[in-house]
Amino acid sequence: MTDNNIASRDSQWREELRKAMPAKERTAIPRVKMPELDPAYRITTFTEEVNQGLSAEQAVTEATRCLDCPDPTCTKGCPVSIDIPAFIKNVQRGRNDLALEVLRNTSALPAVCGRVCPQERQCESKCIYNRMGKQPVAIGYIERFAADTAGSEPVNAQPVEPNGIKIAVAGSGPSGLSFAADMAARGFDVTVFEALHEIGGVLKYGIPEFRLPNAIVDREIQGLQAAGVKFVVDTIIGKTISIDNLRERGFKGIFVASGAGLPRFMGIPGENLIGVMSSNEYLTRINLMGAGREGFDTPVAHGKVVAVIGGGNTAMDSSRTARRMGAEKVYIVYRRSEAEMPARVEEVKHAKEEGIELMTLSNPVEYLGDEKGRVTAMKVQRMELGEPDESGRRSPVPIPGAVDTVPVDMVIVSVGVSPNPIIPNSVDGLDISRRGTIVINDDTMQSSIGDLYAGGDIVRGGATVILAMGDGRRAAAGMAAALIP
Ligand SMILES: Cc1cc2nc3c(=O)[nH]c(=O)nc-3n(C[C@H](O)[C@H](O)[C@H](O)COP(=O)(O)OP(=O)(O)OC[C@H]3O[C@@H](n4cnc5c(N)ncnc54)[C@H](O)[C@@H]3O)c2cc1C
Ligand code: SF4
Repeated sequence: MTDNNIASRDSQWREELRKAMPAKERTAIPRVKMPELDPAYRITTFTEEVNQGLSAEQAVTEATRCLDCPDPTCTKGCPVSIDIPAFIKNVQRGRNDLALEVLRNTSALPAVCGRVCPQERQCESKCIYNRMGKQPVAIGYIERFAADTAGSEPVNAQPVEPNGIKIAVAGSGPSGLSFAADMAARGFDVTVFEALHEIGGVLKYGIPEFRLPNAIVDREIQGLQAAGVKFVVDTIIGKTISIDNLRERGFKGIFVASGAGLPRFMGIPGENLIGVMSSNEYLTRINLMGAGREGFDTPVAHGKVVAVIGGGNTAMDSSRTARRMGAEKVYIVYRRSEAEMPARVEEVKHAKEEGIELMTLSNPVEYLGDEKGRVTAMKVQRMELGEPDESGRRSPVPIPGAVDTVPVDMVIVSVGVSPNPIIPNSVDGLDISRRGTIVINDDTMQSSIGDLYAGGDIVRGGATVILAMGDGRRAAAGMAAALIP
Protein backbone atom coordinates (compact mmCIF):
# COMPACT_ATOMS: atom_id res chain seq x y z
CA MET A 1 0.00 0.00 0.00
CA THR A 2 1.12 3.54 -0.62
CA ASP A 3 1.92 5.31 2.62
CA ASN A 4 2.76 8.91 3.37
CA ASN A 5 6.41 8.16 3.02
CA ILE A 6 5.94 7.29 -0.64
CA ALA A 7 3.33 9.78 -1.77
CA SER A 8 2.87 12.58 0.76
CA ARG A 9 4.15 15.96 -0.36
CA ASP A 10 4.97 16.72 3.30
CA SER A 11 7.33 13.80 3.74
CA GLN A 12 10.85 14.73 4.61
CA TRP A 13 12.49 13.30 1.50
CA ARG A 14 10.24 15.43 -0.75
CA GLU A 15 10.95 18.56 1.20
CA GLU A 16 14.66 17.86 0.87
CA LEU A 17 14.32 17.37 -2.89
CA ARG A 18 12.45 20.67 -3.20
CA LYS A 19 15.08 22.52 -1.20
CA ALA A 20 17.97 20.94 -3.10
CA MET A 21 17.60 23.21 -6.12
CA PRO A 22 16.00 26.66 -6.53
CA ALA A 23 13.00 26.85 -8.88
CA LYS A 24 14.90 29.20 -11.18
CA GLU A 25 17.57 26.59 -11.75
CA ARG A 26 15.01 23.81 -12.31
CA THR A 27 13.03 25.78 -14.84
CA ALA A 28 16.22 26.56 -16.77
CA ILE A 29 16.75 22.85 -17.51
CA PRO A 30 15.60 22.12 -21.08
CA ARG A 31 12.97 19.40 -21.61
CA VAL A 32 14.47 16.02 -22.36
CA LYS A 33 14.37 14.66 -25.92
CA MET A 34 13.17 11.08 -26.36
CA PRO A 35 15.85 9.00 -28.10
CA GLU A 36 14.32 7.67 -31.35
CA LEU A 37 15.28 5.27 -34.10
CA ASP A 38 16.37 6.97 -37.30
CA PRO A 39 13.42 7.30 -39.73
CA ALA A 40 15.30 5.72 -42.68
CA TYR A 41 16.04 2.65 -40.56
CA ARG A 42 12.76 2.39 -38.66
CA ILE A 43 10.60 2.12 -41.80
CA THR A 44 12.38 -1.19 -42.41
CA THR A 45 11.20 -2.76 -39.12
CA PHE A 46 7.73 -3.58 -37.77
CA THR A 47 8.75 -4.61 -34.31
CA GLU A 48 11.46 -2.22 -33.16
CA GLU A 49 10.01 0.58 -31.11
CA VAL A 50 10.52 4.07 -32.53
CA ASN A 51 10.81 5.69 -29.09
CA GLN A 52 13.71 4.08 -27.31
CA GLY A 53 12.94 5.25 -23.77
CA LEU A 54 14.88 7.59 -21.49
CA SER A 55 18.19 6.64 -19.87
CA ALA A 56 18.28 6.73 -16.07
CA GLU A 57 20.23 9.98 -16.22
CA GLN A 58 17.71 11.60 -18.57
CA ALA A 59 14.79 10.46 -16.42
CA VAL A 60 16.28 11.88 -13.23
CA THR A 61 17.12 15.19 -14.95
CA GLU A 62 13.59 15.47 -16.34
CA ALA A 63 12.11 14.55 -12.95
CA THR A 64 14.24 17.32 -11.43
CA ARG A 65 12.49 19.86 -13.66
CA CYS A 66 9.20 19.09 -11.87
CA LEU A 67 8.55 21.80 -9.26
CA ASP A 68 6.48 19.50 -7.01
CA CYS A 69 3.73 22.13 -7.05
CA PRO A 70 1.53 22.48 -3.92
CA ASP A 71 -1.55 22.45 -6.18
CA PRO A 72 -0.40 20.27 -9.09
CA THR A 73 -2.44 21.32 -12.11
CA CYS A 74 -1.03 18.41 -14.15
CA THR A 75 -3.07 15.95 -12.05
CA LYS A 76 -6.28 17.77 -13.01
CA GLY A 77 -5.52 17.00 -16.66
CA CYS A 78 -5.26 13.25 -16.02
CA PRO A 79 -8.57 11.42 -16.61
CA VAL A 80 -7.78 9.05 -13.72
CA SER A 81 -6.11 11.66 -11.47
CA ILE A 82 -2.73 9.95 -11.12
CA ASP A 83 -0.64 11.52 -8.33
CA ILE A 84 1.85 12.83 -10.89
CA PRO A 85 4.36 14.72 -8.70
CA ALA A 86 4.50 11.77 -6.27
CA PHE A 87 5.64 9.32 -8.94
CA ILE A 88 7.95 11.85 -10.58
CA LYS A 89 9.69 12.70 -7.32
CA ASN A 90 10.17 9.00 -6.54
CA VAL A 91 11.91 8.69 -9.92
CA GLN A 92 14.07 11.68 -9.06
CA ARG A 93 15.28 10.00 -5.85
CA GLY A 94 15.95 6.75 -7.75
CA ARG A 95 13.02 4.78 -6.28
CA ASN A 96 11.44 3.58 -9.51
CA ASP A 97 9.80 0.71 -7.62
CA LEU A 98 7.90 3.20 -5.44
CA ALA A 99 7.11 5.40 -8.44
CA LEU A 100 5.48 2.35 -10.03
CA GLU A 101 3.55 1.69 -6.84
CA VAL A 102 2.14 5.22 -6.94
CA LEU A 103 1.20 4.73 -10.61
CA ARG A 104 -0.39 1.35 -9.96
CA ASN A 105 -2.63 2.90 -7.30
CA THR A 106 -4.52 4.57 -10.13
CA SER A 107 -3.48 2.93 -13.39
CA ALA A 108 -3.46 -0.79 -14.16
CA LEU A 109 -1.33 -0.32 -17.28
CA PRO A 110 1.33 2.37 -16.73
CA ALA A 111 3.82 0.98 -19.28
CA VAL A 112 1.04 1.16 -21.88
CA CYS A 113 -0.26 4.60 -20.88
CA GLY A 114 3.28 6.02 -20.77
CA ARG A 115 3.49 5.11 -24.45
CA VAL A 116 0.06 5.81 -25.93
CA CYS A 117 -1.77 8.41 -23.81
CA PRO A 118 -2.29 11.79 -25.51
CA GLN A 119 -0.31 13.52 -22.72
CA GLU A 120 0.01 16.75 -24.70
CA ARG A 121 -3.78 17.18 -24.43
CA GLN A 122 -4.08 15.85 -20.88
CA CYS A 123 -1.60 16.12 -17.99
CA GLU A 124 1.20 17.89 -19.88
CA SER A 125 -1.18 20.53 -21.24
CA LYS A 126 -1.96 21.50 -17.63
CA CYS A 127 1.64 21.55 -16.34
CA ILE A 128 2.60 24.89 -14.78
CA TYR A 129 5.54 25.20 -17.19
CA ASN A 130 3.08 26.08 -19.99
CA ARG A 131 2.14 29.23 -18.10
CA MET A 132 5.81 30.21 -18.00
CA GLY A 133 6.01 29.84 -21.77
CA LYS A 134 8.20 26.74 -21.39
CA GLN A 135 7.80 23.15 -22.50
CA PRO A 136 5.93 21.04 -19.92
CA VAL A 137 7.56 18.32 -17.84
CA ALA A 138 7.68 15.14 -19.97
CA ILE A 139 5.25 13.27 -17.69
CA GLY A 140 4.53 10.48 -20.18
CA TYR A 141 8.21 9.75 -20.79
CA ILE A 142 8.87 9.56 -17.02
CA GLU A 143 5.83 7.31 -16.52
CA ARG A 144 7.12 4.95 -19.19
CA PHE A 145 10.60 4.99 -17.60
CA ALA A 146 9.22 4.12 -14.16
CA ALA A 147 7.05 1.30 -15.52
CA ASP A 148 9.82 -0.17 -17.68
CA THR A 149 12.58 -0.10 -15.10
CA ALA A 150 10.82 -1.01 -11.87
CA GLY A 151 10.59 -4.75 -12.55
CA SER A 152 7.54 -6.85 -13.29
CA GLU A 153 5.87 -7.79 -10.06
CA PRO A 154 2.29 -8.99 -10.38
CA VAL A 155 -0.39 -6.29 -10.40
CA ASN A 156 -1.70 -7.62 -7.14
CA ALA A 157 1.45 -8.17 -5.12
CA GLN A 158 -0.49 -8.51 -1.85
CA PRO A 159 -2.09 -11.96 -1.48
CA VAL A 160 -5.83 -11.60 -0.86
CA GLU A 161 -8.35 -13.96 0.65
CA PRO A 162 -10.42 -15.42 -2.26
CA ASN A 163 -14.14 -14.74 -1.80
CA GLY A 164 -15.23 -17.50 -4.22
CA ILE A 165 -17.52 -15.20 -6.24
CA LYS A 166 -17.21 -15.86 -9.99
CA ILE A 167 -17.03 -12.84 -12.31
CA ALA A 168 -16.92 -12.89 -16.13
CA VAL A 169 -15.39 -10.27 -18.41
CA ALA A 170 -16.23 -10.07 -22.12
CA GLY A 171 -13.24 -8.61 -23.95
CA SER A 172 -9.56 -8.35 -23.03
CA GLY A 173 -8.73 -4.75 -24.06
CA PRO A 174 -7.56 -2.15 -21.54
CA SER A 175 -11.01 -1.83 -20.00
CA GLY A 176 -11.43 -5.57 -19.40
CA LEU A 177 -7.85 -5.92 -18.15
CA SER A 178 -8.05 -3.09 -15.64
CA PHE A 179 -11.43 -4.34 -14.39
CA ALA A 180 -9.97 -7.85 -14.00
CA ALA A 181 -6.95 -6.49 -12.09
CA ASP A 182 -9.11 -4.63 -9.61
CA MET A 183 -11.58 -7.47 -9.07
CA ALA A 184 -8.77 -10.02 -8.57
CA ALA A 185 -7.21 -7.63 -6.05
CA ARG A 186 -10.52 -7.74 -4.15
CA GLY A 187 -10.50 -11.55 -4.04
CA PHE A 188 -13.00 -12.29 -6.84
CA ASP A 189 -12.58 -15.31 -9.12
CA VAL A 190 -12.24 -13.59 -12.52
CA THR A 191 -12.41 -15.16 -15.99
CA VAL A 192 -11.82 -13.01 -19.08
CA PHE A 193 -13.40 -14.28 -22.32
CA GLU A 194 -11.84 -12.99 -25.54
CA ALA A 195 -13.24 -13.44 -29.05
CA LEU A 196 -9.81 -13.40 -30.74
CA HIS A 197 -6.93 -15.83 -30.25
CA GLU A 198 -4.76 -13.16 -28.57
CA ILE A 199 -5.34 -11.21 -25.36
CA GLY A 200 -5.06 -7.40 -25.31
CA GLY A 201 -7.75 -5.96 -27.61
CA VAL A 202 -6.63 -2.92 -29.61
CA LEU A 203 -3.33 -2.94 -27.72
CA LYS A 204 -2.47 -6.09 -29.72
CA TYR A 205 -4.50 -6.03 -32.92
CA GLY A 206 -4.62 -2.27 -33.54
CA ILE A 207 -1.62 -0.38 -32.18
CA PRO A 208 1.52 -1.56 -34.02
CA GLU A 209 4.55 -2.94 -32.22
CA PHE A 210 6.74 -0.04 -33.39
CA ARG A 211 4.65 2.05 -30.99
CA LEU A 212 3.65 -0.47 -28.32
CA PRO A 213 5.62 -3.76 -28.27
CA ASN A 214 3.56 -6.89 -27.58
CA ALA A 215 6.04 -7.83 -24.85
CA ILE A 216 4.87 -4.80 -22.82
CA VAL A 217 1.23 -5.87 -23.04
CA ASP A 218 2.17 -9.49 -22.30
CA ARG A 219 4.01 -8.43 -19.15
CA GLU A 220 0.82 -6.80 -17.85
CA ILE A 221 -1.19 -9.92 -18.77
CA GLN A 222 1.30 -12.18 -16.96
CA GLY A 223 0.88 -9.97 -13.90
CA LEU A 224 -2.86 -10.59 -14.05
CA GLN A 225 -2.38 -14.34 -14.48
CA ALA A 226 -0.09 -14.36 -11.46
CA ALA A 227 -2.89 -12.63 -9.55
CA GLY A 228 -5.21 -15.54 -10.46
CA VAL A 229 -7.12 -14.11 -13.46
CA LYS A 230 -8.09 -16.80 -16.00
CA PHE A 231 -8.21 -16.12 -19.74
CA VAL A 232 -10.33 -18.02 -22.27
CA VAL A 233 -9.62 -17.08 -25.91
CA ASP A 234 -11.52 -17.82 -29.15
CA THR A 235 -14.82 -17.31 -27.34
CA ILE A 236 -17.44 -14.80 -28.48
CA ILE A 237 -19.83 -13.86 -25.69
CA GLY A 238 -23.29 -13.58 -27.25
CA LYS A 239 -22.44 -16.27 -29.85
CA THR A 240 -20.18 -19.06 -28.50
CA ILE A 241 -21.58 -18.54 -24.99
CA SER A 242 -24.62 -16.42 -24.16
CA ILE A 243 -24.95 -14.14 -21.16
CA ASP A 244 -27.54 -16.61 -19.79
CA ASN A 245 -25.01 -19.47 -20.19
CA LEU A 246 -22.57 -17.44 -18.09
CA ARG A 247 -25.20 -17.07 -15.37
CA GLU A 248 -25.92 -20.82 -15.52
CA ARG A 249 -22.19 -21.42 -15.02
CA GLY A 250 -22.34 -19.46 -11.79
CA PHE A 251 -20.98 -16.06 -12.82
CA LYS A 252 -22.54 -13.50 -10.48
CA GLY A 253 -21.41 -10.39 -12.35
CA ILE A 254 -20.51 -9.75 -15.99
CA PHE A 255 -18.42 -6.83 -17.25
CA VAL A 256 -18.86 -6.08 -20.94
CA ALA A 257 -15.71 -4.53 -22.42
CA SER A 258 -16.17 -5.57 -26.02
CA GLY A 259 -14.90 -2.32 -27.55
CA ALA A 260 -15.76 -0.53 -30.76
CA GLY A 261 -14.33 -2.83 -33.38
CA LEU A 262 -16.91 -2.20 -36.10
CA PRO A 263 -15.29 -0.13 -38.87
CA ARG A 264 -17.13 2.79 -40.43
CA PHE A 265 -17.07 3.68 -44.10
CA MET A 266 -18.06 6.96 -45.75
CA GLY A 267 -20.73 5.53 -48.08
CA ILE A 268 -19.17 7.07 -51.21
CA PRO A 269 -19.05 5.45 -54.68
CA GLY A 270 -16.24 2.97 -55.22
CA GLU A 271 -15.77 1.87 -51.59
CA ASN A 272 -16.36 -1.75 -52.68
CA LEU A 273 -13.46 -1.73 -55.16
CA ILE A 274 -10.62 -4.19 -54.60
CA GLY A 275 -7.87 -2.40 -52.66
CA VAL A 276 -10.22 -0.31 -50.51
CA MET A 277 -10.35 -1.61 -46.94
CA SER A 278 -10.86 -0.54 -43.36
CA SER A 279 -7.89 0.21 -41.11
CA ASN A 280 -9.21 -2.45 -38.72
CA GLU A 281 -8.87 -5.13 -41.37
CA TYR A 282 -5.48 -3.88 -42.54
CA LEU A 283 -3.94 -3.54 -39.08
CA THR A 284 -5.43 -6.79 -37.76
CA ARG A 285 -4.05 -8.80 -40.68
CA ILE A 286 -0.58 -7.37 -40.10
CA ASN A 287 -0.38 -6.92 -36.32
CA LEU A 288 -2.33 -9.95 -35.16
CA MET A 289 -1.94 -12.35 -38.07
CA GLY A 290 1.62 -11.57 -39.19
CA ALA A 291 0.76 -10.66 -42.80
CA GLY A 292 3.80 -9.48 -44.73
CA ARG A 293 6.22 -11.15 -42.35
CA GLU A 294 8.28 -14.29 -42.75
CA GLY A 295 6.65 -17.45 -41.44
CA PHE A 296 3.05 -16.21 -41.90
CA ASP A 297 0.78 -16.89 -44.87
CA THR A 298 -1.96 -14.30 -44.09
CA PRO A 299 -2.71 -12.47 -47.35
CA VAL A 300 -2.70 -8.67 -47.42
CA ALA A 301 -2.75 -6.08 -50.22
CA HIS A 302 0.55 -4.31 -50.96
CA GLY A 303 -0.08 -0.82 -52.33
CA LYS A 304 2.60 1.30 -53.96
CA VAL A 305 0.60 4.53 -53.68
CA VAL A 306 -1.64 4.39 -50.61
CA ALA A 307 -4.26 6.86 -49.38
CA VAL A 308 -5.22 6.63 -45.71
CA ILE A 309 -8.44 8.48 -44.99
CA GLY A 310 -8.75 10.14 -41.54
CA GLY A 311 -6.63 12.10 -39.05
CA GLY A 312 -6.70 10.00 -35.88
CA ASN A 313 -4.23 7.57 -34.30
CA THR A 314 -5.64 4.74 -36.40
CA ALA A 315 -4.90 6.68 -39.58
CA MET A 316 -1.33 7.40 -38.41
CA ASP A 317 -0.77 3.73 -37.50
CA SER A 318 -2.17 2.56 -40.85
CA SER A 319 -0.06 4.99 -42.87
CA ARG A 320 3.15 4.15 -41.03
CA THR A 321 2.40 0.43 -41.35
CA ALA A 322 1.80 0.84 -45.11
CA ARG A 323 5.22 2.51 -45.36
CA ARG A 324 6.80 -0.44 -43.58
CA MET A 325 4.95 -2.77 -45.98
CA GLY A 326 6.85 -1.16 -48.86
CA ALA A 327 4.51 1.60 -50.08
CA GLU A 328 6.48 4.23 -52.00
CA LYS A 329 4.00 7.03 -51.39
CA VAL A 330 1.49 7.29 -48.57
CA TYR A 331 -1.01 10.13 -48.21
CA ILE A 332 -3.02 10.94 -45.11
CA VAL A 333 -6.20 12.47 -46.52
CA TYR A 334 -7.91 14.62 -43.89
CA ARG A 335 -10.75 17.08 -44.34
CA ARG A 336 -9.60 19.62 -41.76
CA SER A 337 -6.13 21.11 -41.21
CA GLU A 338 -3.21 19.51 -39.36
CA ALA A 339 -3.97 21.55 -36.22
CA GLU A 340 -7.37 19.81 -35.91
CA MET A 341 -6.04 16.26 -36.32
CA PRO A 342 -7.21 14.16 -33.36
CA ALA A 343 -4.08 11.94 -33.46
CA ARG A 344 -1.37 12.31 -30.83
CA VAL A 345 1.00 15.08 -31.89
CA GLU A 346 3.97 12.73 -31.63
CA GLU A 347 2.38 10.24 -34.06
CA VAL A 348 1.83 12.99 -36.65
CA LYS A 349 5.46 14.09 -36.22
CA HIS A 350 6.73 10.52 -36.59
CA ALA A 351 4.54 9.92 -39.64
CA LYS A 352 5.90 13.02 -41.36
CA GLU A 353 9.49 12.01 -40.53
CA GLU A 354 8.78 8.65 -42.16
CA GLY A 355 7.83 10.34 -45.42
CA ILE A 356 4.03 10.28 -45.07
CA GLU A 357 2.45 13.19 -46.94
CA LEU A 358 -0.38 15.05 -45.20
CA MET A 359 -3.10 15.90 -47.73
CA THR A 360 -5.14 18.15 -45.45
CA LEU A 361 -8.32 20.11 -46.23
CA SER A 362 -9.20 17.28 -48.62
CA ASN A 363 -12.08 14.83 -48.61
CA PRO A 364 -12.46 11.81 -50.89
CA VAL A 365 -15.80 11.82 -52.74
CA GLU A 366 -15.34 8.82 -55.05
CA TYR A 367 -12.92 5.99 -55.80
CA LEU A 368 -12.31 5.00 -59.43
CA GLY A 369 -11.39 1.50 -60.60
CA ASP A 370 -10.14 -0.44 -63.64
CA GLU A 371 -11.98 -3.13 -65.61
CA LYS A 372 -10.95 -5.75 -63.01
CA GLY A 373 -12.56 -3.77 -60.22
CA ARG A 374 -9.28 -2.61 -58.65
CA VAL A 375 -8.98 0.88 -57.27
CA THR A 376 -6.84 3.15 -59.47
CA ALA A 377 -7.61 6.69 -58.28
CA MET A 378 -9.60 8.81 -55.85
CA LYS A 379 -11.50 11.98 -56.50
CA VAL A 380 -10.73 14.50 -53.77
CA GLN A 381 -12.85 17.50 -52.87
CA ARG A 382 -10.66 20.34 -51.60
CA MET A 383 -11.96 22.11 -48.51
CA GLU A 384 -11.49 25.32 -46.55
CA LEU A 385 -12.15 25.97 -42.86
CA GLY A 386 -15.44 27.64 -41.96
CA GLU A 387 -17.08 28.40 -38.62
CA PRO A 388 -16.40 26.25 -35.52
CA ASP A 389 -18.83 23.32 -35.07
CA GLU A 390 -20.28 21.96 -31.80
CA SER A 391 -16.91 20.32 -30.97
CA GLY A 392 -15.27 23.76 -31.14
CA ARG A 393 -13.24 22.78 -34.21
CA ARG A 394 -13.64 24.86 -37.36
CA SER A 395 -15.75 22.86 -39.79
CA PRO A 396 -14.44 22.05 -43.24
CA VAL A 397 -16.44 23.51 -46.13
CA PRO A 398 -16.07 22.30 -49.75
CA ILE A 399 -14.54 24.80 -52.19
CA PRO A 400 -16.97 24.81 -55.14
CA GLY A 401 -15.53 23.06 -58.22
CA ALA A 402 -12.22 22.17 -56.53
CA VAL A 403 -12.16 18.40 -57.14
CA ASP A 404 -8.90 16.66 -58.13
CA THR A 405 -8.23 13.11 -59.26
CA VAL A 406 -5.27 11.51 -57.49
CA PRO A 407 -3.88 8.13 -58.67
CA VAL A 408 -3.74 5.50 -55.86
CA ASP A 409 -3.66 1.70 -55.84
CA MET A 410 -4.80 1.18 -52.25
CA VAL A 411 -7.11 3.02 -49.84
CA ILE A 412 -7.30 2.45 -46.09
CA VAL A 413 -10.40 3.97 -44.51
CA SER A 414 -9.84 5.21 -40.91
CA VAL A 415 -12.83 7.47 -40.36
CA GLY A 416 -13.98 6.03 -37.04
CA VAL A 417 -15.48 2.96 -35.47
CA SER A 418 -18.80 1.89 -34.00
CA PRO A 419 -19.51 -0.25 -30.95
CA ASN A 420 -19.28 -3.98 -31.42
CA PRO A 421 -22.98 -4.97 -31.77
CA ILE A 422 -22.85 -8.68 -30.83
CA ILE A 423 -23.43 -8.38 -27.08
CA PRO A 424 -25.86 -5.40 -27.19
CA ASN A 425 -27.96 -7.31 -29.75
CA SER A 426 -27.92 -10.55 -27.79
CA VAL A 427 -29.34 -9.31 -24.46
CA ASP A 428 -33.08 -8.66 -24.15
CA GLY A 429 -33.99 -5.50 -22.24
CA LEU A 430 -30.51 -3.97 -22.35
CA ASP A 431 -30.69 -0.19 -22.69
CA ILE A 432 -28.74 0.84 -25.82
CA SER A 433 -28.19 4.34 -27.18
CA ARG A 434 -28.93 5.43 -30.75
CA ARG A 435 -25.20 5.12 -31.46
CA GLY A 436 -25.31 1.47 -30.36
CA THR A 437 -23.40 2.04 -27.12
CA ILE A 438 -24.49 0.38 -23.86
CA VAL A 439 -26.17 2.90 -21.55
CA ILE A 440 -24.78 2.79 -18.01
CA ASN A 441 -24.91 4.60 -14.70
CA ASP A 442 -21.84 6.88 -14.88
CA ASP A 443 -20.87 6.30 -11.25
CA THR A 444 -21.12 2.52 -11.05
CA MET A 445 -21.01 1.54 -14.76
CA GLN A 446 -24.04 -0.70 -14.12
CA SER A 447 -26.31 -1.22 -17.15
CA SER A 448 -30.10 -1.50 -17.15
CA ILE A 449 -29.61 -5.24 -16.38
CA GLY A 450 -28.56 -5.62 -12.72
CA ASP A 451 -25.66 -8.08 -13.04
CA LEU A 452 -24.33 -6.56 -16.25
CA TYR A 453 -21.80 -3.71 -16.18
CA ALA A 454 -19.99 -2.14 -19.13
CA GLY A 455 -17.10 0.19 -19.87
CA GLY A 456 -14.56 1.36 -22.43
CA ASP A 457 -15.35 1.84 -26.11
CA ILE A 458 -18.59 -0.20 -25.94
CA VAL A 459 -19.91 2.63 -23.72
CA ARG A 460 -18.00 5.57 -25.20
CA GLY A 461 -18.01 4.49 -28.85
CA GLY A 462 -14.29 4.93 -29.50
CA ALA A 463 -12.15 6.84 -27.01
CA THR A 464 -8.74 6.30 -25.41
CA VAL A 465 -6.87 3.66 -23.47
CA ILE A 466 -6.82 5.67 -20.24
CA LEU A 467 -10.58 6.33 -20.35
CA ALA A 468 -11.28 2.64 -21.07
CA MET A 469 -9.06 1.71 -18.17
CA GLY A 470 -10.70 4.24 -15.84
CA ASP A 471 -14.11 2.76 -16.73
CA GLY A 472 -12.85 -0.71 -15.83
CA ARG A 473 -11.73 0.52 -12.44
CA ARG A 474 -15.04 2.32 -11.75
CA ALA A 475 -17.02 -0.76 -12.81
CA ALA A 476 -14.95 -2.94 -10.48
CA ALA A 477 -15.70 -0.61 -7.57
CA GLY A 478 -19.41 -0.50 -8.50
CA MET A 479 -19.81 -4.26 -8.96
CA ALA A 480 -17.80 -5.15 -5.84
CA ALA A 481 -19.93 -2.80 -3.74
CA ALA A 482 -23.12 -4.38 -5.13
CA LEU A 483 -21.95 -7.97 -4.56
CA ILE A 484 -20.38 -7.46 -1.12
CA PRO A 485 -22.31 -4.54 0.41
C1 LIG B 1 -5.22 1.57 -34.41
C2 LIG B 1 -5.63 2.22 -33.14
C3 LIG B 1 -4.74 3.06 -32.49
C4 LIG B 1 -5.08 3.66 -31.29
N1 LIG B 1 -4.17 4.46 -30.66
C5 LIG B 1 -4.46 4.98 -29.45
C6 LIG B 1 -3.50 5.74 -28.74
O1 LIG B 1 -2.39 5.99 -29.21
N2 LIG B 1 -3.83 6.22 -27.51
C7 LIG B 1 -5.03 5.95 -26.94
O2 LIG B 1 -5.26 6.36 -25.80
N3 LIG B 1 -5.99 5.26 -27.60
C8 LIG B 1 -5.73 4.76 -28.84
N4 LIG B 1 -6.68 4.04 -29.52
C9 LIG B 1 -8.00 3.83 -28.87
C10 LIG B 1 -7.90 2.77 -27.79
O3 LIG B 1 -7.09 1.71 -28.21
C11 LIG B 1 -9.29 2.28 -27.40
O4 LIG B 1 -10.04 3.39 -26.95
C12 LIG B 1 -9.21 1.23 -26.30
O5 LIG B 1 -8.45 0.12 -26.72
C13 LIG B 1 -10.61 0.75 -25.90
O6 LIG B 1 -10.46 -0.26 -24.96
P1 LIG B 1 -11.60 -1.35 -24.71
O7 LIG B 1 -11.06 -2.26 -23.67
O8 LIG B 1 -12.89 -0.68 -24.49
O9 LIG B 1 -11.77 -2.11 -26.11
P2 LIG B 1 -10.77 -2.89 -27.08
O10 LIG B 1 -9.36 -2.53 -26.88
O11 LIG B 1 -11.36 -2.72 -28.43
O12 LIG B 1 -10.95 -4.40 -26.65
C14 LIG B 1 -12.18 -5.07 -26.83
C15 LIG B 1 -11.91 -6.55 -26.90
O13 LIG B 1 -13.16 -7.23 -26.82
C16 LIG B 1 -13.15 -8.33 -27.73
N5 LIG B 1 -14.54 -8.66 -28.02
C17 LIG B 1 -15.41 -7.97 -28.80
N6 LIG B 1 -16.62 -8.58 -28.78
C18 LIG B 1 -16.50 -9.64 -27.97
C19 LIG B 1 -17.41 -10.65 -27.54
N7 LIG B 1 -18.66 -10.66 -27.97
N8 LIG B 1 -16.94 -11.63 -26.72
C20 LIG B 1 -15.64 -11.62 -26.28
N9 LIG B 1 -14.75 -10.68 -26.66
C21 LIG B 1 -15.18 -9.70 -27.47
C22 LIG B 1 -12.37 -7.78 -28.91
O14 LIG B 1 -11.87 -8.84 -29.71
C23 LIG B 1 -11.27 -6.99 -28.21
O15 LIG B 1 -10.15 -7.81 -27.95
C24 LIG B 1 -6.37 3.44 -30.73
C25 LIG B 1 -7.29 2.63 -31.40
C26 LIG B 1 -6.93 2.02 -32.58
C27 LIG B 1 -7.92 1.12 -33.28
S1 SF4 C 1 2.31 20.94 -12.85
FE1 SF4 C 1 4.27 20.35 -13.85
S2 SF4 C 1 5.82 21.12 -12.44
FE2 SF4 C 1 3.91 21.13 -11.25
S3 SF4 C 1 3.83 19.12 -10.22
FE3 SF4 C 1 2.81 18.83 -12.20
S4 SF4 C 1 4.44 18.08 -13.59
FE4 SF4 C 1 5.46 19.00 -11.77
